[in-house]
Formats: sequence, structure tokens, C-alpha cells
Amino acid sequence: MKKIIIIGGGIAGLSAGIYAQQAGFETEIYEKNSVVGGQCTGWNRKGYFIDNCVHWLTGTKEGTDLYKTWENVGVLGDDVTVLQPDAFYSVELDGETITLWKDLDRTEKELLALSPEDKKEIKKFIANVRMAESMKMPTEKAMDMMNIFEIMKFGLSMGDMGKVIKEYGRINVGELSERFKHPLLKAMIETFMAKEYLAYSLLVSYATFTSGNGGIPEGGSRVMALRMQQRFEDLGGKVYTNTGVSQINIDQLRSAAGIELADGRLVTGDYIICACDPDFTFQQLLNVSYMDKKLKAVYDDRKNNPVISSFHVAFGVDGMLEELTETLLFECESLEIGTQTTNRMSLKNYATYGPNIAPPGKTVIQSQFIQYEQDYDYWVNLAENKSEYEAKKMAIANEVLQRIEAKFPAYQGKIEILDTWTPMTYHRYCNAYHGAYMSFISTISSQTTMFSGNIKALDNVVLGSQWQMNPGGLPTAVIMGKFAVQRILKKDKRKR
Ligand SMILES: Cc1cc2nc3c(=O)[nH]c(=O)nc-3n(C[C@H](O)[C@H](O)[C@H](O)COP(=O)(O)OP(=O)(O)OC[C@H]3O[C@@H](n4cnc5c(N)ncnc54)[C@H](O)[C@@H]3O)c2cc1C
Repeated sequence: MKKIIIIGGGIAGLSAGIYAQQAGFETEIYEKNSVVGGQCTGWNRKGYFIDNCVHWLTGTKEGTDLYKTWENVGVLGDDVTVLQPDAFYSVELDGETITLWKDLDRTEKELLALSPEDKKEIKKFIANVRMAESMKMPTEKAMDMMNIFEIMKFGLSMGDMGKVIKEYGRINVGELSERFKHPLLKAMIETFMAKEYLAYSLLVSYATFTSGNGGIPEGGSRVMALRMQQRFEDLGGKVYTNTGVSQINIDQLRSAAGIELADGRLVTGDYIICACDPDFTFQQLLNVSYMDKKLKAVYDDRKNNPVISSFHVAFGVDGMLEELTETLLFECESLEIGTQTTNRMSLKNYATYGPNIAPPGKTVIQSQFIQYEQDYDYWVNLAENKSEYEAKKMAIANEVLQRIEAKFPAYQGKIEILDTWTPMTYHRYCNAYHGAYMSFISTISSQTTMFSGNIKALDNVVLGSQWQMNPGGLPTAVIMGKFAVQRILKKDKRKR
């Protein structure tokens, strides 16, 4: 039986492991952290649970191809309840609030009532969200492994998605907000995701939610990853946690013999799947000369292919904060975070995530602030002095707390800081490139958005990671894990 070594036990690595076991390989996953899941994780603090990933999981609608993939890897199924909130998010400005509801008709009605003068743009936005509900990802085969007929068939299966891309694929979120006249509608468009994202990203995200294909598996992110580990182990795979990999050993011209672990041990195998960050893979585990030219060009062009991260604070609340249903974006007194100054903030109530999130009668809320690559540099510099770094994080967390108490005065003294983390945390925890927990943003000037998992100069090493398709995310991670195994099957001259 041939053996596959997988570096990284995030969603992509676990997915690769499951598909590899199903294809009859002997499979071992090496994960540097004490628990699998990578970015898809959560942790306990002061009797609360901080969920730090799934806001929506694309593929929760039964019958879709992606649902079948999640079902195969143990994330979804008859025994898993999917939570489906009513609202995607709400935005408040100058005392008025608007919500993007799951019910698209209700959203349309409320947007039109708010701003009749934006009727044309609102109608177009709603009609395109409806069309974007047919958006799909390739789940059967990687695009670069499809023949022309398969590519055409896949394109046709997406219905009117082409029209959405035509209308909203050449402007970014910031430009889309400018098409609206009402300040609250502008804010609704521009404050949910970074303004550099192509506008259709916002429509597709909302469409995933309105179509019922973007729910939250009960238990949240950590439970989801642990279910995948269970599935992998049930199939006979082995997971080694707390076991970092320090390099891939190349023994012959085009072939790797195995890996070297951080403690110096050597592990041999027939194939290797790099399911960790590709920048780390090529800079540390291999050598940058192995990097695909297209991918290298994207890393080299920081202006047109930005990555983003976040500064987060989580709070425990003595009470359910029912006034806050899901995510609210609102104005606040100015805050400085990294190199950014903002007078808007987001707050999400995790009460909907189920009873295990907090003790009875209590809940967890979180604020998340966008951070760019210059902010990552800011935090890296600051972290050189650990006490200064910690003090800065806490100072910001306290400022955020003051703004929350100003917004919800009845909760003064009932909210405690649980934890705060920065782009540096993602780098430390997952070796994430510039602290990014998703892949490159597709901007108006991005040229490449998909990257092959093959490494030209190596026959038995492939990539399997969210970074192979912009903008990354859980569905990309799970299918790239699957495709990595397909690439190995092809190299092994096997169909399945
Ligand atoms: C706050 C937040 C919210 C998010 N919200 C959503 C959402 O709502 N929907 C969505 O689809 N996605 C969301 N994401 C993104 C999602 O978490 C990621 O896209 C996905 O988890 C990436 O999976 P991956 O396996 O490709 O990478 P990773 O999770 O980075 O996994 C790589 C693994 O490799 C390990 N590793 C690295 N170096 C080594 C080494 N040398 N040796 C051994 N192991 C190593 C890491 O520890 C890690 O476990 C969110 C992420 C965050 C942080």
C-alpha cells in the first residue's frame, strides 16, 4: 500500500486525508498544533467558548454537490443540525438601521422604503443576488484537470452567474457603494467586507445565505474540524498533533523522500501533500525556486493581490443581549487599531451558536476589525516586545468595551473581556502568510485567481490548500484537499 504524508491538519489537510484513505492509501497527517482544524477553530476562556471561524458555511443546502462533499468528510449529515439565522447582517447609521434578511423580498421592501431614490440600484442588486444563488464551485474535478467539454458543462451549470460577474465583476465593493445615494445604503455595502473585494463577492456571500446554502453546523468551528478528524481516523488514518514539519527532503532530481520533523525525526512516504500555507511551504519546507511562476507573480505583486486579516476582541456577557441579533455594524467614537483609524465597528452575538457557547443566561459577543498588510507589519514590530504587544491589545480591547457599553448602557459592568488576538496570532498559530486567514483578495486588477496544485519540478509533492483559489475559505479548503488526492491518483495512473 502506498503512503501519503500530509503536512497540516486544517480543513484542507483533513479532507485530503479522508479522500486518500477512501482511495486506499496509507495516510498520516502531521499537525504542528495540539488540535486539528487550523484556522477553523475555537477555544475556551473563563467558562465561555470563543468560536473563531464559521460565520457561514457554504454548502449546507441538502442536495448540492458541496453538501455531498461536506457529508463525505463528516461535517454535515442527518445527525448534524444546521443553524440558519434570519439576518445576514444589519447596519446602523444616524439612528436608522437596515438589515440584509434571509428573506430577499423582505430586504427589497425595506431597502425601497428606506430610499425610493435608489430604486434602480436596489432592484438591480436584489435581482443579481437572486441570480447569484446559482453560483457553484467545482467539486468533482479541479478546473485545470477538466477538458474543454467539462469546463463548458460546469460554466452552464451556473445559470445566470455570468450576468452577475458581468455587472459586478469589474467594480469593487467601494465603487458599488458609490452607486447608492442614501448614506445608510452606502454603509450597508461598504462596511461588511474590505472595500477592495470585487463587488460580486458581496452578492455571492449574501446569495449563499438567502438560498439557505450558508448555515452554521451546530457546535461551530472546532466541533466541525473534530468531526473530520473522527471520520479520518475511522477510515484508518493517523493524525500526529504537536508535530511540526521543518522540511521536505528531496533525495533525487524530481522526487521527495519524505519529511523532517521539528524534533529531527525523518518520515518517509511515497507522496506528500502540503496542506499548510503555500508561502511557508515554498519559503521554509522546500525552496522558493519550486514555486509556480503564476503564484510567485501574485506574491510579488502586493498591490494588486492584497491579503487581509483582523484584530478581534471576544467578550463574555452576563445576559443574552437580545437587542443584538446576529451581526450589527454601527458608528462609534474613533478607534486606532494597527495603522487604521475607524469610527465604525462590528459586533456579533454568538447566542445562536447553541447552548455550549456560554453558561446558562450568558452569551459571547465579538468585535472584528479589518487589518491590512501594513497592519500585520505593525503588529510584527510591536510583538518584538511582548509586554508592549500585550498592553496594546488590552488597551484597544478596553476601548472597544467602552464603545459597546456606550451602545448598550443597560449592560454596563456586565461585559468582560475574554480574549483579544491580532494578525500576528494567525501567523504564530498557522504560519499564515501576513496573518491572512483567507487567500488573496480578487481585486479589479488581479490577474490570476486559481493556482494549480502541481509542483512542476517535483513528481510526488502536491499542494492542497485554500490558497489555490481566491478568496479561499472553508469550501475551497475542503475541495482542494480532495483535488490533491486526485492529482496523486493521476500520477499513480489510477482513476480512483
Ligand atoms: C475569524 C475567521 C472567520 C472565518 N470565517 C469563515 C467563514 O465564515 N466561512 C468560510 O468559508 N471560511 C471562513 N474562514 C476561513 C477558513 O477558516 C479558512 O479558509 C480555512 O480554515 C483554511 O483551511 P486550510 O486547511 O486551507 O488552512 P489552515 O487552516 O491554515 O490549515 C493549515 C494547517 O497547517 C498547519 N501547519 C502549518 N505549518 C505547519 C508545519 N510546519 N508542520 C505541521 N503543520 C503545520 C497549521 O497549524 C494548520 O493547522 C474564517 C477564518 C477566520 C480566522
